[in-house]
Amino acid sequence: MGINRSTLQSWMRDRSLVDKYLGTDLCPRCTPVSSPPEPLDAYSYLLGLYLGDGCLTPAGDPRKGVWRLRVMCSDTWPGLIELCAGAMAAIRPDHKVSRVPSTGCTEVHGNWKHWPCLFPQHGPGKKHDRTIALEPWQQAIVEKHTKEFVRGLVHSDGSRVLNRIKRKLPGDGEQYYEYPRYHFTNVSTDIIRLFTEALDRLEIPWKVHTKKRGKSYKDTYVVSVSQREAVARMDSFVGPKY
Ligand SMILES: [Zn+2]
Repeated sequence: MGINRSTLQSWMRDRSLVDKYLGTDLCPRCTPVSSPPEPLDAYSYLLGLYLGDGCLTPAGDPRKGVWRLRVMCSDTWPGLIELCAGAMAAIRPDHKVSRVPSTGCTEVHGNWKHWPCLFPQHGPGKKHDRTIALEPWQQAIVEKHTKEFVRGLVHSDGSRVLNRIKRKLPGDGEQYYEYPRYHFTNVSTDIIRLFTEALDRLEIPWKVHTKKRGKSYKDTYVVSVSQREAVARMDSFVGPKY
């Protein structure tokens, strides 16, 4: 390619220089021989976050074709902000991941021309207004790394809640019991299906109910995992937000 030796040596020290020189970035998808984005577990988690609460927007001048992957993380859970930033950094080592504070939340983002190659679900409009289907290579990743995918979805659009139940004791006494359960809330039936299919693969029983939100809004679907053993399974790889 006519690239001299010292240039190659500096690229080996700092991969971002390759982008500057070639005007592109090494993308695992849009090369003649495509491969899945590595590491697979970080991608599976990031895909869950993206489908739950992430989006792609042009970064700066749209004519330059650089995209920004943005995930909004609540400041209530600082640990999740770091997990999100860590997954983005794992997919694109040596590239900057930014944390931008906003009211009550932090936007974690990274810029790249090839985010749409990694998240082909990107398109105009809201996710629940269009079909969300995984490409075969994505399906293979979420089948291999199902727990990470479920974890990403729950960390963005889900929660672990404590149901408090009062029980009368003999006499005048009463006692409270707390039952943990998981909820996953989304408006897109496609995303709900991806979540419940993943739970099925893990043999975790679930239930879904519809929350009506009035004529001018789409219905919201809530998947709940509440059986004691199923919650214990979820706790082993998701756990409470932190
Ligand atoms: Zn690409």
